[in-house]
Amino acid sequence: MGWENLPSCCGLRRATSRLVAVQRLAAHPVVTLIVIVANHRRTKTVKPDKLLHPTPKGLYCPPGDFYIDPVAPVARALITHGHADHARSGHDTVWATDQTLDIMAIRYGADHCKTPIAAPLREMFEINGVNIGFWPAGHVLGSAQILVEHDDTRIVASGDYKRRRDPSCAPFEVIPTPKRLDAFITEATFALPVFRHPDTAGEVAKLLESRRQFPDSAHMVGVYALGKAQRVIRHLREEGHKDTIYIHGSLAKLCEYYETQGYDLGPLAPATLAKGEKGNFAGAIVLGPPSAMTDKWARRFPDPITCFASGWMQVRQRARQRGVELPIVLSDHCDWDELLDTIEEIDPKEVWVTHGRDDALVRWCELNGRVARPLHLIGYEDENE
Ligand SMILES: [Zn+2]
Ligand SMILES: [Zn+2]
Repeated sequence: MGWENLPSCCGLRRATSRLVAVQRLAAHPVVTLIVIVANHRRTKTVKPDKLLHPTPKGLYCPPGDFYIDPVAPVARALITHGHADHARSGHDTVWATDQTLDIMAIRYGADHCKTPIAAPLREMFEINGVNIGFWPAGHVLGSAQILVEHDDTRIVASGDYKRRRDPSCAPFEVIPTPKRLDAFITEATFALPVFRHPDTAGEVAKLLESRRQFPDSAHMVGVYALGKAQRVIRHLREEGHKDTIYIHGSLAKLCEYYETQGYDLGPLAPATLAKGEKGNFAGAIVLGPPSAMTDKWARRFPDPITCFASGWMQVRQRARQRGVELPIVLSDHCDWDELLDTIEEIDPKEVWVTHGRDDALVRWCELNGRVARPLHLIGYEDENE
């Protein structure tokens, strides 16, 4: 069933409960179909749906004939940021910030698309008569929200975003628009009231304190290669950690790239050990991808202490499952309060909710008199965090 054929906004929830009631009376597919058709006739399609709507390949803009963060190869793709589930290779033309294009080239090679076009920041440009603008999203280096404007209808697709200070990328900006936004598309990775990210400095201090307590151990910190690795390094430097930080080979290229963009990461060295050698890693902080933390590579370091920097580390069970001894709660997404504050601050006519815990956020919007709906986009992960 196509998303665009469903009744819109809160109509969706009402229609769903009506549907459930009828199904209880007569669980027959024909009856179900009649109910859907009847509901569709009663509810007029809301205008923003014509500008952007979900398809199996991703969010599609019919008048501009482009997709935002498509999950399959397309002719025209607008990419919010370089995480692998949002930025895929194989498109014809790609619009993204300079930094996101560089990151895609580092990860996939220069031929990741046929025609890369650098989208300017805070400046509108046109694709097939639709106005487009990229503004910083504060998620990772190069990340952007995308404003789509056509026929006096404006939608912001924010991709992934956060509001907390991050010394490894530009901060989130509320996009200035001449009129109230018709729809703001928000992610919902941590959209449950239980998710409240702790103070960042306190989490970084936990790592430094453990290092003081266990000076003979190597602290093996699991971090994702884009964003989290460089953010952890920058926070450690801010807290006065001047020693060399050792990095797994898979982090090297992106760390080098951050340096070229003016983000000083301080002294870094490869975390390589010859076979059977313990090396000079007592007291060292070693960063590597989460997958490497459970393999032989990590066990070769002296008395390794397994750490993991992720927003998910506030879920004790996840930390335990991964065998993490020192969870560091550091997220590149908004927590519950930050999501609500952002929605209040932007005050769009409609909130469209995508990957993550959409039910809770949609429900909160409804209880607070806001029109909201889940987009049910597929193909995005919440692990890369
Ligand atoms: Zn992301
Ligand atoms: Zn995402």
